[in-house]
Amino acid sequence: MIGGGLAGLACGVALAEASWRVRLFEQKHFLGGRATSYVLPNGEHVDNCQHVTLGCCTNLADFYRRVDSADKIKFFDELVFLDPQGRRGTMKAGLLPAPFHMTGSFLTFAPLTMRDKLSIARAMLDIVAAKGKTADLAAPGGISMLEWLRRRRQTKGAIERLWRVVLVSALDEELDRTDARYGVDVFWKAFLMNSTGYRMGVPIVPLAELYAGCKAAIESRGGEVNLRSPVRSLHAEGTSIKAVQFDAGREESADAYVFAVTHDALFDLMPESIRRAEPSLANLSKIKTAPITGVHFWFDRPVMDEPFVTLLDTNTQWIFNKTMLYGEQNGATNNSEQYLQMVISASYDLLKKSRQEIIDICLREVRQALPRAQAAQLMKSTVIKEVAATFSPQPGVDRWRPQQETRVPGLFFAGDWTATGWPATMEGAVRSGYLAAEAVLRTSGSVSASEHQFLQPDLPPTGLMSMFLPKQNPK
Ligand SMILES: Cc1cc2nc3c(=O)[nH]c(=O)nc-3n(C[C@H](O)[C@H](O)[C@H](O)COP(=O)(O)OP(=O)(O)OC[C@H]3O[C@@H](n4cnc5c(N)ncnc54)[C@H](O)[C@@H]3O)c2cc1C
Repeated sequence: MIGGGLAGLACGVALAEASWRVRLFEQKHFLGGRATSYVLPNGEHVDNCQHVTLGCCTNLADFYRRVDSADKIKFFDELVFLDPQGRRGTMKAGLLPAPFHMTGSFLTFAPLTMRDKLSIARAMLDIVAAKGKTADLAAPGGISMLEWLRRRRQTKGAIERLWRVVLVSALDEELDRTDARYGVDVFWKAFLMNSTGYRMGVPIVPLAELYAGCKAAIESRGGEVNLRSPVRSLHAEGTSIKAVQFDAGREESADAYVFAVTHDALFDLMPESIRRAEPSLANLSKIKTAPITGVHFWFDRPVMDEPFVTLLDTNTQWIFNKTMLYGEQNGATNNSEQYLQMVISASYDLLKKSRQEIIDICLREVRQALPRAQAAQLMKSTVIKEVAATFSPQPGVDRWRPQQETRVPGLFFAGDWTATGWPATMEGAVRSGYLAAEAVLRTSGSVSASEHQFLQPDLPPTGLMSMFLPKQNPK
């Protein structure tokens, strides 16, 4: 296993459970890849960026269960939105059955006008009637989400204050650069098909702590987790893989090689003979990336009571109350202070700005949204720009995402960018890892292959949706 992000970890844990001896090599000195945390000199833990999951992310939930981390994720039923005019809206499931479970909170959602709501309701009914797959999603090369919304005559308010807010956060891309297939799928799986799919799961520990059980799961079955072990290249003779190569000419060989690195790192690791044999490698450069910026503020006093809020019409998209979420668990946190983390997805405009400019923008917006922050002193702040945070879900991108099983015997790919049908998320990464593990077992002729299905089914439809949707199967 080359790469110790979520894809490599999910694949490694699954194969270890299938009695394979897994040897995992990660270039950094910690696990978790893009979804991890590190420790500041004062002992404080900081996530590289806030990560959240949703109720519909069934494979990530399964992975956390396998590695004993499920109790480190807290799920919330209510999503709170604030606009600059001070209006507050909440989204929450009520008593009505799916797909109408959000109707109560939607009708009283103050930041949207009645015209906005009527246009949104029309589009949602369109998604429901098409069972999540409206005919125009199948257009060759895909259509953009913005085009999909225009075809359904969505109002400006509906686009800016609902569709864009939800989708830019979920998919890390602007609506005109997002394949509508992904956008519609978010609403179908999280908000319409099942009444719990939208529930937001937030880690209550620093991200790196979620992976402690992975090392144990792999090592207890005779495997190894090697940190600070960058793989430099693949040694192949023709299409026969001989080994992976490390620094100082060291080589390690295996029955199967799963490359769970990022798509932009993969191509350079492959020798010419493998590039020729596996045509999907030539398409990797067509998969573009998108940025996310995380901003961390430490105030000298509490300024926020909610665990998290979404801001409307601002650069800052989310504010997370890390002090409340971590509770007593983060050693350096003093109860009279408050640590907040802000997230800005698809943050192209911020890439050109200096850290101080980004801090000034966010501070202004936080102080407007949270009046108590106006008198509070900002004691410390930091900005983390992840330039290539995720792959960009551009129209037609699925054409370039390779399967986990390749044409080269013994060579497999895993990573959120491989063909999972999901966007670049922790759920997508775990799905890719499970699919790669299944491919390893299938192609090795392992007697246990048929017993080992790791991929989990989607949430079952609930309410009225359960009456007219077929039962789900995992694939
Ligand atoms: C700022 C930010 C915010 C995000 N927010 C969310 C969120 O809220 N919810 C969500 O679901 N997703 C979120 N994501 C996306 C999520 O983090 C990723 O989709 C997921 O973690 C990808 O996992 P992966 O294993 O595919 O890739 P990675 O995590 O990138 O793992 C690849 C691993 O391979 C290692 N590696 C690379 N080259 C080599 C080599 N030559 N030898 C050995 N090791 C190597 C890397 O060090 C890395 O550990 C966010 C991402 C970022 C960056």
